[in-house]
Amino acid sequence: MNRVSKDHVIYAMSKDNQPVITVEAGSQVVFETCDCFEDQIKTANTHFSELDWNRINPATGPVFVKGAERGDILAVRIDKIDHNSQAVMVTGPNMGVIGDQLGENVVRIIPVQGGKAQFSKEIEVPLNPMIGVIGTAPAGEAISCGTPDLHGGNMDCKLIKEGSTLFLPVNVAGALFALGDLHAAMGDGEVAVCGAEIAGEVTVTLSVIKDKKWPLPMIETDTHVYTLASEVQLDDAASTATRNMVNLLEQESGISKHEAIALMSLVGNIQVCQVVDPKKTIRFEMPKSILSKLKVSL
Ligand code: CA
Ligand code: CA
Repeated sequence: MNRVSKDHVIYAMSKDNQPVITVEAGSQVVFETCDCFEDQIKTANTHFSELDWNRINPATGPVFVKGAERGDILAVRIDKIDHNSQAVMVTGPNMGVIGDQLGENVVRIIPVQGGKAQFSKEIEVPLNPMIGVIGTAPAGEAISCGTPDLHGGNMDCKLIKEGSTLFLPVNVAGALFALGDLHAAMGDGEVAVCGAEIAGEVTVTLSVIKDKKWPLPMIETDTHVYTLASEVQLDDAASTATRNMVNLLEQESGISKHEAIALMSLVGNIQVCQVVDPKKTIRFEMPKSILSKLKVSL
């Protein structure tokens, strides 16, 4: 089995990163991942001043996929997400949606066991393990692993989970794919700036799709297809994600823009992934039951 240990982390997605391993297209790869603090927080007594803030949002990789060429699409099927039994959260000034109202930094350790996260003595919350940072190298300037964009990155989308397939652009030879920043649980918006941050291990199958011009990134689940967009302003992210879905329907089914947008207005949903990263991420959801009537399949 191809395996990438968490000794190999990057802090930016870049065409200049040296690949850790090279794999055949269609291979399964296991990525061992640190949490978003690179596992620096072990207890609730960890002081913020002790943290090395240059080691935030590490992604494990990158992996070079043979045969992936610029203009292709990398299909990332998420086969399995395993995670540790302890998550961490931080809340504080200048973090998240109400950081201006928080006076001090608080570190919270969250035990994760039996399919639940123990938020407090009284409150346990369901798990929805997901991948926060996942992407390919951009063609131009390197992009910090903290920022989401066309290449993927820190999209913090809770549908990037076991069983989903994420479609990403191949911008450079080999794609240079990497991932990290697992969350054991997270709600849409990620309002505190973090989820239940946790280290773990992700198994994916990496495939290359040729000769398709899909609007990327996209996600396919058992029941839905999503176009994703990250922009500085949430409104812009909403319109880009919507335009991307219109483009997909037009291209793949041949229906008109008018028809596409009318149908999307009836059965499509704009949903928020996160509102706390340097760019904010929106997804547009369409049911596959409707897409199949249009003969759209990915
Ligand atoms: Ca994140
Ligand atoms: Ca995170």
